[in-house]
Formats: sequence, structure tokens, C-alpha cells
Amino acid sequence: MATVNKHYYKLAAGYLFPEIAQRTEHFLKQNPGLKIMRLGIGDTTEPLPPSVIEGLHQGVDKLSDVSTYTGYGAYEGEVPIREAIIRQYGRRGVSVDVSEIFVSDGAKPDSGNIQSIFGTDNRIAVQDPVYPVYIDTNVIAGRTGPFNSEKGYYEGITYMVCNESNGFFPSVPEKKVDLIYLCSPNNPTGCVATKDQLSTFVDYANQHRSIILFDAAYSAFIQQDDLPRSIYEVEGAKSCAIEINSFSKSAGFTGVRLGWSVVPEDLIAEDTKKGEINALWRRRQCTFFNGPSNVVQAGGIAALSDRGMLECQQMIDYYMENARLIKKGLQSIDITVYGGDNAPYIWMKTPKSMRSWDFFDKLLHEAKVVGTPGSGFGPSGEGFFRLSAFGHRENIIQAIQSIKENLKL
Ligand SMILES: *Cc1c(COP(=O)(O)O)cnc(C)c1O
Repeated sequence: MATVNKHYYKLAAGYLFPEIAQRTEHFLKQNPGLKIMRLGIGDTTEPLPPSVIEGLHQGVDKLSDVSTYTGYGAYEGEVPIREAIIRQYGRRGVSVDVSEIFVSDGAKPDSGNIQSIFGTDNRIAVQDPVYPVYIDTNVIAGRTGPFNSEKGYYEGITYMVCNESNGFFPSVPEKKVDLIYLCSPNNPTGCVATKDQLSTFVDYANQHRSIILFDAAYSAFIQQDDLPRSIYEVEGAKSCAIEINSFSKSAGFTGVRLGWSVVPEDLIAEDTKKGEINALWRRRQCTFFNGPSNVVQAGGIAALSDRGMLECQQMIDYYMENARLIKKGLQSIDITVYGGDNAPYIWMKTPKSMRSWDFFDKLLHEAKVVGTPGSGFGPSGEGFFRLSAFGHRENIIQAIQSIKENLKL
């Protein structure tokens, strides 16, 4: 008699994006033909740069000839792409070995899968508000109790509050936790941890033999040179942190699919020696994954070439100009905004302390703009709202114009 994994039933109902889609659709049904502007979903919109397209084409062409055809590749990704990733770290003074890089089909799969190499009795800590994947995958794995709908929390998870008074970066937990998820630049708040802030977590983790799972998917959006793009810029991180990154946002690969994780040889848990966690992740990938697509890796190598980096940077600059326009527009009508300087997200405080979902409806009905309610990312997101800078410039300009003209404050 087959049974199912009952932990799935604990997942909080009404996932954020379906609810947004449903409310938007309902509004459109009542107002047929109306044009709405979407500043909601964190997905890239601009075409891939020419160098990346060339790289992808080359990857395809290699498959057309018997002398260059290849089948299954290395589980960890081919050496040239791992070396290209290493060169990128080198620019920030971080040295990583080829054996420590695991190329994958994206940062979401990696950040979801990584928990599987850790014991089910580990206590996890997450930022609140947070990218939902870290929590949901631990729910499925059975590391949490039930969802407490009154508090908006899962029992058994340590939520590290990120709010205005701590600049949206938490202090270390008071009690001992084992696995700590950190995301910087942060989705949804658009705020970036400083080196000192990351240091407090690295010190905590080394002291308690905890492990930090650091999601750096937006690192390429950091503008300020003194802000860390990798946790390994912080002294002592190699023994306590796994870093996860992606080509999705930096090179427009959300649909192409490519990411990587760094699992340092020096990393240790309470019950392992150096190298063992690296070997466990290799074992996990060999068992569940056959390596990233060879065509896509050719595109990834092109994105990391000098020309590719330059072209990707122009794309990032484009989105960051969108972010600047959104931020400036909102500030001009006296809305308090955070983020948006080193990340493609603007985290706005709802006017008059409105609840996030009430503001969602107000913004949709009055300004015809769709955004993302902060409360969907965790209870500390209540009273906030996320606007995404991914989008075509003309849509962004129209949306801001409409907010300025039509939102009744
Ligand atoms: C978009 C995003 C990712 C990227 O995931 P991919 O699977 O590489 O597309 C990872 N983490 C966060 C926080 C994100 O917002």
C-alpha cells in the first residue's frame, strides 16, 4: 500500500504567486480590456546578449558533428566553466578550487536540494521575510512542525526578523541553530549585508559548528565596491559556509537554467572531517543529477568571457536604472522605500501602515499596477510591498507615472 509524504500537507496553502494571479485575473474580468502593469514577479525580461547567443549556438553546433559530439558530461559541470567561475571569484580576491565548484541547473534547485545532505534533526534558521524555497524544502524534509496560521510561522523554525530597526539584516540567533540560510542581496528586501554583518554570522557558525547556506543569486547587482559579493570575502567562511549562485539574474538565464554551488573542502559539520561535506554533495549530485546541459554550459562560458561580462553588465545596468526610476518615483510621493540600490528589488513601506494585501488591491485598482505583498514572504514582511525592477523600461515608466497620478494617498 503506497502512502505519500505527509509533510507536503503542511505547506502553507495559497502560495503567493497563484494568489496574485487570481486577484489580477478577477480584476481584469471585471474591467475587460484594461491594461495593467506588472512590477511583481522576479523574472528577467531583456534578450540575452550577443556573446551568450553565440556561445549557445556554438554549443548546439558541436552536437551536429560526430567529431565534436559529446553525451553525458561531468556531474559537477565541465572544467572550463568551473575555471571561468573561479576566475570571477578571483576578481574579488577569493580563491576557490575546481573541486569545490558544482555547476547545476540553477540556484533554486541547489538551495532546495542542499538540505538533503544534512541530518533531519538539524534546526534551521531563516531570515524573515525570506525567499520561500528554503523553508518549504525543509518542511517537505520533515525538519519543521505544522504551520501556525495565526502567527504565520512554522513551528520548529527559527525566524530571524529583518525590519527597519535592524536595517533588514538580522542579528545572530540567541539559541543554537544548525543550518542558517542567508540571502544577500536579499529577495525580497533588496538590502545587502555588509562584511561586518556577515562576519557576525561566520563567527557564530564557526563557534557553534553551524553551517551557513548563502544565496548570492543577486551578487552581480551590487554597485558599491565595499559590499561583499561572496561570503568567502569574509575571514573564516570557508569552514562554515556553502555559497549558491546563478546565471539567472546576472545573465538572463531564468529560462536557460544554469547555476552553481561552492562546497569548500574546509567545510565541516559537528560530525565530519574536512572534505566530507564536499564528498556528500558530490554523491548527492551524482545520484540525482546528470550534470548541467552541455549547450547551456557553452552559453555560461560565453557569459563569463570578458565580452560576455561586459554585455551582461550592461543588462544589469539597465535593470538597475529601472530600480532607480522606481525608487525616485515613489520617494517623490513621500513613500518610504528600501533596497533598490544594490539589488533589483524595491521594498516599500505601505502608506498609512496598510496591510500588504490591502495595498495590493489598492495599487491594482487605483494605479493598475501589480506588485508583490511583503507578507507573502513571511510575517515580518507585513506592511511592506515588493516592486521588481525587472521589466521593459517603458512599462516601468508607465507604471511609476500611473502610481504618481492615480494612487490616492
Ligand atoms: C531568482 C532567485 C534564484 C535563482 O534561481 P534559479 O533556479 O537559478 O533561477 C535563487 N535565489 C533567489 C533568492 C532568487 O530570487
